[in-house]
Amino acid sequence: MMAVYYLLFCAGTFLTGICGETQLGFQGYTKYEPGDINIIITAPHGGGLTPSSQANGDDWPDRKNGCKDASGTCIYTHSCSPTSSKCSARTVRDSFTKTIARDLADKIRDITEGSTRPHVVYNLLKRSKLDANREINEATLNVPDAITAYNDYANFISQAKLAISGSGSGRGFLLDIHGQTHQPPRTELGYLISKSKLVQKSYNVVGTSIRNLGEYWCGSNNACFQDFVQGNRSLGYFVNQEGLAAVPSPLDEDPNGEKFFSGGYTTRVHGSKDGGNIDAIQLELPRELRFEWNRNVALQNALANAIVKFYQLNYDA
Ligand SMILES: [Zn+2]
Repeated sequence: MMAVYYLLFCAGTFLTGICGETQLGFQGYTKYEPGDINIIITAPHGGGLTPSSQANGDDWPDRKNGCKDASGTCIYTHSCSPTSSKCSARTVRDSFTKTIARDLADKIRDITEGSTRPHVVYNLLKRSKLDANREINEATLNVPDAITAYNDYANFISQAKLAISGSGSGRGFLLDIHGQTHQPPRTELGYLISKSKLVQKSYNVVGTSIRNLGEYWCGSNNACFQDFVQGNRSLGYFVNQEGLAAVPSPLDEDPNGEKFFSGGYTTRVHGSKDGGNIDAIQLELPRELRFEWNRNVALQNALANAIVKFYQLNYDA
């Protein structure tokens, strides 16, 4: 009940300093830094905590592949057998993405002259314990403490979305920060638009994770909407303007046959595909950018600048 009162109070009043304080989830496994601009940054795969037991003393084994049931559906429990490679549970950590999420928020605050910082939500558990970018069973393998952390993470995102809904235009976006390791080294922007649809330009605004953005500016005009995905209103455009590679973008309109991530669970569930005023974009940052990040302030400023310019042109108008 406390949490409900807190949520209602903060949503209704926006008292920075009271509502703006960092919140930790159960056992410090998740963290929410409330913001005051209509941007949410999430980092589901950057955590490093590896508890071997739960709060009640029960074991907390690492996530593992699930099994197929009689109908061929994947089920995810530690006791199922035999496991199936078709029900794989990825456990690779996206190195440096926790730091990048925090730094991006700080840089955006600095660029906007200290007045506005994005909301940031972190999963601090290592992906081998919780994958916060999957549906709950695959995410947790049904370990009770993992389920609690998963729900905390989702509730923090909901809290940030609620704050944005009552702020300014009520329009905003979530950036889900990930790391990829394939070539070429460019940032992959996921809008739930597949590689082939980018090649053919056969997507339309419905079904994407930036449906609200598209409908706001373009209605159902798909030629107009393409500018927000591959043209000069897109996040890719502003990333290009800062001298960085991105796909889709005006310089790389489609993945050109290379591997490409088009967006995962968070982008599907927390974007505007099924309605609402908050869009979502998955950012898959290349290894080269992530491993350079800590020692390259110009790089930090470049990515933050791109996000601010995209925001100011498309959401702050
Ligand atoms: Zn990831």
